[in-house]
Amino acid sequence: MIVSIDRKKVKHLKDCIFCKIVRNEIPSYTIYEDDVVKAFLDISQGTPGHTLVIPKKHIANIFEYDPELAAAVFSRIPKIARAVKDSNPDIKGMNILNNNGQVAYQSVFHSHFHLVPRYTNHDDFSMTFKDNSNKYTPDDLKKIQDSIVAHIGD
Ligand code: AMP
Ligand code: ZN
Repeated sequence: MIVSIDRKKVKHLKDCIFCKIVRNEIPSYTIYEDDVVKAFLDISQGTPGHTLVIPKKHIANIFEYDPELAAAVFSRIPKIARAVKDSNPDIKGMNILNNNGQVAYQSVFHSHFHLVPRYTNHDDFSMTFKDNSNKYTPDDLKKIQDSIVAHIGD
């Protein structure tokens, strides 16, 4: 059997900061881990308790998940989110974010989910969705719908 090694990928895994955290080569404030995921405090602490949940397996972004890994990772998120919420009575809600690609503000290219506890409407996290609904006709929306539906696989 011939096994081909993608040298670029091997180097990437060696250098990936989150893979290093998984291997305990660099320290982290880990709050939960099992065979599938590791959850640790985000060093930036956008709000107190800001946590990252990552698959231990290196994949770059949401587009690289298979259904099994997606199910396994997501199934762990609610219990980690509850633990973060229950850790502080001032936490009133939580934003869960997953950035994919530089254009979407991803800066570490090992997939991760941000759990951002929310304390007030004026804490240190905000998000803007512009309402562009007046710029789209029903026909425009139908074309977008059709184009996405055509790419839904099994
Ligand atoms: P993103 O911009 O969505 O890719 O998020 C990457 C996050 O990783 C940022 O919020 C960083 O603060 C966080 N981060 C980077 N290095 C570390 C580290 N060594 N330990 C914990 N969090 C980190
Ligand atoms: Zn990695």
